[in-house]
Amino acid sequence: MTMRKEDAPVYGTRTRIPERFRFACHPGVSCFNRCCHDVDMYLYPYDIIRLKRRLEMTSDEVLDRHTVTAIRDNPFFPHMMLKLTEKEGRPCPFLSPIGCTVYEDRPFSCRAYPVEPAVSRQPGHEGETVYYISRHHYCQGHEEARQFTVAEWIADQGLAPFTEMNRAWVPVDTILRQNPWKGQGLDNPAAKMVFMACYNMDRFREFVFNSSFLSRFAIPEDRLAALRTKDEALLRVGFDWVIYMLTGGGPLLKIKI
Ligand code: SF4
Ligand code: SF4
Repeated sequence: MTMRKEDAPVYGTRTRIPERFRFACHPGVSCFNRCCHDVDMYLYPYDIIRLKRRLEMTSDEVLDRHTVTAIRDNPFFPHMMLKLTEKEGRPCPFLSPIGCTVYEDRPFSCRAYPVEPAVSRQPGHEGETVYYISRHHYCQGHEEARQFTVAEWIADQGLAPFTEMNRAWVPVDTILRQNPWKGQGLDNPAAKMVFMACYNMDRFREFVFNSSFLSRFAIPEDRLAALRTKDEALLRVGFDWVIYMLTGGGPLLKIKI
């Protein structure tokens, strides 16, 4: 979960994780649900898929009702953010008196906290995952006795499919940070196609099956079947397509007709 300035961790923005860390979050903590208010939360492409399925909404409905776009650390492509309610304290729309109503499908940032994985771009360590621990100053979870290693936390929070899809997003995100529009504004057609391929699986599916896409790329039959029904499979093709569109390379180049 991205923190606002006043919620900065008590020992720096983030700290390299020790071998084990103490943490537990449960209804008994005095801060229960506080972090579900007035948060600045990034949503990743896979988060949209999980929310869409959970809420039984179309991609358009999820995007319209529950997200806003914002330019943050990448001036060339907006981040997708969770749209909070206007109620007092600006709670998350999925928060109920007894907790999170989308708990099993809650976004990556909610489930990963306090662990923050980052993909290293350090020379010689490119692509390695580095783990940090972050801390809201009000979060009492860090005072709890239970201890975890990173691997135990990943298993406990069901993080694996999120980290896997987020890793697949990293090369796309990297390209989108390198001024891919050649000086054109963000409302250029290519940027809209990229947005669709990354965040709107319903529209991207229509595009794949009702345009010249399949006459340009020889998608194997088994993969094609998955694209009709599985948003995860479609998102991976979306990422490959964005890489192809913006660089002329990547996995789709190998199956170009
Ligand atoms: S999705 Fe759930 S856990 Fe995340 S901020 Fe909203 S209510 Fe809290
Ligand atoms: S502030 Fe920390 S302990 Fe409190 S509800 Fe949020 S994650 Fe749990």
